Amino acid sequence: MPDAAAAPLARRRVRVRGLVQGVGFRPYVYALARAHGLTGWVLNDGDGVLLEVQGFETGRFLTDLERRPPPLARIDAVEATGMPAQAGECNFTIRESEGGAVSTAISADAAVCPDCLAELFDPADRRYRYPFLNCTHCGPRYTITRRLPYDRPQTAMAGFPLCPDCAREYADPADRRFHAQPVACPACGPRLSLPVEDILAAIRAGRIVGLKGLGGFHLVCDARNAEAVERLRARKHRDAKPFALMVANPESAAALAEIGPEEARLLTGVERPVVLLRRHEGAPPLPEAIAPGLGWLGVMLPYTPLHYLLFHEAAGRPAGTAWLGAPQDPCLVMTSANPGGEPLVIGNEEARQRLAGIADIIVDHDRDIVIRADDSVTRVIAGAPAPLRRARGTVPKAIRLARTGPPVLAVGDYLKTTICVTRGDEAFLSQHIGDLDNAATIGFFEETVAHLLHVLQVEPIAVAHDPHPDVWSTRFAAGIGLPSIAVQHHHAHIAAVLAEHRVTRPALGLALDGVGLGRDGGIWGGELLRVDGPDFDRLGHLRPLALPGGDIAARQPWRMAASALHALGRGDEIPARLGSHGDAAGIARMLDRGINAPLTSSCGRLFDAACGLLGVVPQARYEAEAPMALESLVRTPRVLADGWRIDEDGRLDLLPLLAALIGRDPADGAELFHGTLAAALVAWTLPALSAHDLDTVALGGGCLCNAVLAEGLIAGFAAQGVTALYPRQAPANDGGLALGQAWVAARALEEHSL
Ligand SMILES: [Zn+2]
Ligand SMILES: [Zn+2]
Repeated sequence: MPDAAAAPLARRRVRVRGLVQGVGFRPYVYALARAHGLTGWVLNDGDGVLLEVQGFETGRFLTDLERRPPPLARIDAVEATGMPAQAGECNFTIRESEGGAVSTAISADAAVCPDCLAELFDPADRRYRYPFLNCTHCGPRYTITRRLPYDRPQTAMAGFPLCPDCAREYADPADRRFHAQPVACPACGPRLSLPVEDILAAIRAGRIVGLKGLGGFHLVCDARNAEAVERLRARKHRDAKPFALMVANPESAAALAEIGPEEARLLTGVERPVVLLRRHEGAPPLPEAIAPGLGWLGVMLPYTPLHYLLFHEAAGRPAGTAWLGAPQDPCLVMTSANPGGEPLVIGNEEARQRLAGIADIIVDHDRDIVIRADDSVTRVIAGAPAPLRRARGTVPKAIRLARTGPPVLAVGDYLKTTICVTRGDEAFLSQHIGDLDNAATIGFFEETVAHLLHVLQVEPIAVAHDPHPDVWSTRFAAGIGLPSIAVQHHHAHIAAVLAEHRVTRPALGLALDGVGLGRDGGIWGGELLRVDGPDFDRLGHLRPLALPGGDIAARQPWRMAASALHALGRGDEIPARLGSHGDAAGIARMLDRGINAPLTSSCGRLFDAACGLLGVVPQARYEAEAPMALESLVRTPRVLADGWRIDEDGRLDLLPLLAALIGRDPADGAELFHGTLAAALVAWTLPALSAHDLDTVALGGGCLCNAVLAEGLIAGFAAQGVTALYPRQAPANDGGLALGQAWVAARALEEHSL
């Protein structure tokens, strides 16, 4: 009788697909196979990783392989097939890559890993206090890669020949640094231009340091030094946009802001984004100039060895990593060095020129940044991460689509631009490029298109763009010699949500946004759509408000307040209520005569009207300042029962709510506005869902970056048994637009055989 406990000798061939190259997968397989007493081999090829294992434990090996992949890997599929056992095989080997195996997957930059941190602070280690240590589990990737294949000569490490010690680690399959392309040590790797103690001393002395990082330079100063923060703000001409902070660990962040389990997970994850955290009521005050008027702080933890060394230096250079478990005092402003709204500074010489007059000292190093990537920004909404800006650490991770489609390029619109490239069933959204309002950002846009197409080795068959004829991305699309497909702005917002949730059936969409060009030539932005792949119907929209003065109204919420008063038939109150903000009498006349006052159904402008009526940021200094300040005031949203009407044309009219805000306390009004708006939107959408026999609504558009509104909608729909799909992989704002454009274009190519 066979022994039931012992599995028979077996051989299996295993195909692993996903992000499995350049992430230490082969050494991991090697170590795992040996741990299970298996023989065989592993190699990289054009489809991912291929391996064969033989022994008595192949089943357990496969279970472990899927359950505990290396930190930066993402396994999409493991396919195992039985093979005849081979006699005479006595070890497990890593074979050379096969079939001209070009690694077409570049991973994103990753925060320094725990093993490397342990070496960094171990006085006996040869990489003790070395600012550029890394391994296959961490370090720079996307930002140092010039071209494929991902191999050291094709990266910014090309000019750093490995020393014998590093070469041995690089060649040893059992080593954590086996084939780690950026591997380096003090003997052979990049060097910092200034000792860490001098950098810290400058920060402590109140100076502003231009510090070269992973995806670009930061401007760094002591966040508790109000004078330094003010000076940085004045020099950077960054009127009021919040500055990001860096603290050593979650324990230090908890002293400033509220951190739930999801926030802690985001803060410490390998992507290491800036995380928006609600300020503590009783936290020791930080200078107002860090995030004027906002109820939250943007906080990130260190992600390069150099960042960690600054905190280590401040802690008195303790040995080991135990100190990292305790709160650390330093709190640093770490803001992108992007003077004048232009792209991030990445070059050493460029830093000396563009940061002159802003930074007191420049600290650089001799490892080039090949592709710039800002810090990513995220926040927790309804208990899960919601990206606000995708860049360093996130790009170029793919978003998986429901199915394979034709390769397309999508170029976004105008604000917060990103581009998107599809390949098979994957969509690659570029890093945040910025607003296409200056030549430097346009140059970065063109560079990003070329680089992303090159590293993905994609030749698109069509280009998707916004229909707006005057934006630069539209003109770019018209000029690159590919068939072009115009995708309406809010259709694209909803499509982006459907794409990442892999929904291919028809669905309703609520697009709550700033402004975008509508199909009828109007200015849309508060839309109820029925989306069916490449087609959509506009089922309804918010009751339009006039934009007195046109585009300028977007930066002057008091003008939208005037518009609301006029719509309420209370135009005569405009001069008295709003006269302190500008030419209110002139605006009132403009509204009366309907001159230079185009209508918009924008939800963003509705927010502005509420802000203007409540006196919250009547004149905004940057996009979305007013609604962010309004959201900051909310503790418990409340619903005004008669706050809205739904008219015969299916329009949602919130004028009763706006009327109720006049003369109200700002915090009270903010709570009433958010609660009522969410309730009204749910009440408006439900009949349309039943009429179209649908049970799913996709939520998209910039207003959905507002956590109070998003959570109100998600909970409100859930209470009615409706699934509300929320953007989790691409930003709800225009940073995710290109994903939706690409999805619509791919569906149009398939379904209309274009
Ligand atoms: Zn590492
Ligand atoms: Zn070395």
